[in-house]
Amino acid sequence: MVEIAGTGARLLDGVAVAKDIRAEVAPAVAEFTAKAGRPAGLGIVLVGENPASEVYVRNKLKSAGEAGLFAELIRLPANASIEDLLSVVETLNRSERHDGILVQSPLPHAMGPDAERRVFDTVRPDKDVDGFHPTNVGYLVQNRATLVACTPSGVIEILERSGIPIAGTRAVVIGRSDIVGKPMALLLIHRHATVTICHSRTVDLPRLAAEADLLVAAIGRPGFVTKAFVKPGATVIDVGINRLDSQTAVERMFPGDARRLADFERRQSMIVGDVHPDVAEVAGAMTPVPGGVGPLTIAMLLRNTLRAAQDRAGRAG
Ligand code: NAP
Repeated sequence: MVEIAGTGARLLDGVAVAKDIRAEVAPAVAEFTAKAGRPAGLGIVLVGENPASEVYVRNKLKSAGEAGLFAELIRLPANASIEDLLSVVETLNRSERHDGILVQSPLPHAMGPDAERRVFDTVRPDKDVDGFHPTNVGYLVQNRATLVACTPSGVIEILERSGIPIAGTRAVVIGRSDIVGKPMALLLIHRHATVTICHSRTVDLPRLAAEADLLVAAIGRPGFVTKAFVKPGATVIDVGINRLDSQTAVERMFPGDARRLADFERRQSMIVGDVHPDVAEVAGAMTPVPGGVGPLTIAMLLRNTLRAAQDRAGRAG
């Protein structure tokens, strides 16, 4: 067991678990390729040049290639219209080479407030490797989904593969987004946790969170979850990925921490989660950021793409 330095908390290593999943996916991809005469294919659509999205997409393409998938990036300019984007999605829906379709979020604001929803609705459900189409969400509600949102299913993988019990636990999920919080809560319910979902209007959030055996933070606020939110010994999963880009922000989150300040000075930015690292002093187990849930999201994307390809080939044959 690896502990987080200077604390009793067990480190849940997302990099290692993701590597295990990728090592399982690669031979299954090779087997599919041999049988189908073509590799399973993933189409990734990127609109504009958001620097964070560029990094995410690059990592997804690299991992997909390493797993033996055919992965294609389709770029649209930042001024593309929602109609342009939907037309690309329709082409991918009809493509024989693409088993999975992923449209990278966020989309440019100019596409309108309902652009993401329109995209999710347009992707063919059997190619929806993000698991965001209402059909797949409905299947998830009924506990018979095949394509489930990658980040929450990655959280389940790290818990199960780390031997952390879910059944019978009190779980609290902070965040109710369609892409993380809600599917996370459903996956936990299906594994027999008793789940409370919290959000920005929740009253007395720290008290509720501190009742949890299993606390999942998917908020998008750096270091929001402090020791006061955590029951001693609880498992804490940090989904947040937040970029600190000012010295003031780093000083506010880590007062008097010369090492982190020096680190920030060198890189001029710092990635932190929604959970303050001090939580390791009370938690029983915890995912780090980076190196926790992030790598799992990509591993689950590969697995979903393989699954979509196998299911499609199974229906065709
Ligand atoms: P989102 O759509 O912005 O949802 C955030 C949720 O947090 C909302 O439900 C919101 O409540 C809640 N929230 C915001 N401020 C709060 C507060 N002060 N107190 C209590 N709840 C609050 O974000 P998301 O897409 O779910 O992502 C959440 C985080 O996960 C982000 O940091 C994102 O970058 C990260 N993420 C990571 C991965 C990964 O691969 N690791 C993947 C996806 C997302 P309301 O509903 O009331 O507004």
